[in-house]
Amino acid sequence: MPIYEYQKRPEAVGCDHCRDEFTLYQKMKDDAITVCPVCGGAVMKLVSSPGISTPKTSSELKNLGFTKLVKRDTGVYENVTRTGNEARYMEAGKADTVPDFKRKIAD
Ligand SMILES: [Zn+2]
Repeated sequence: MPIYEYQKRPEAVGCDHCRDEFTLYQKMKDDAITVCPVCGGAVMKLVSSPGISTPKTSSELKNLGFTKLVKRDTGVYENVTRTGNEARYMEAGKADTVPDFKRKIAD
């Protein structure tokens, strides 16, 4: 679900919640909120920073050194960004199927 950032409108008083930026998970089709969910003060949606809310493809993530696990079954995750001899599926309780984070961090 996309994340949207809000901040109180300059003219609004605001509360502890909306005085600084806050984030809200919303469906794409939902309209931007205009009032703080805590104090009812006027808020405005901020322009999202690129790279935070922009979805990346699995190959982009892989090139950036991220590991993406997609749930395929109970306790079974497909490593869609696997490299080298990482296992395609990570299974709960099977240590040898866990992605090789240590090597990736060391790269
Ligand atoms: Zn508020």
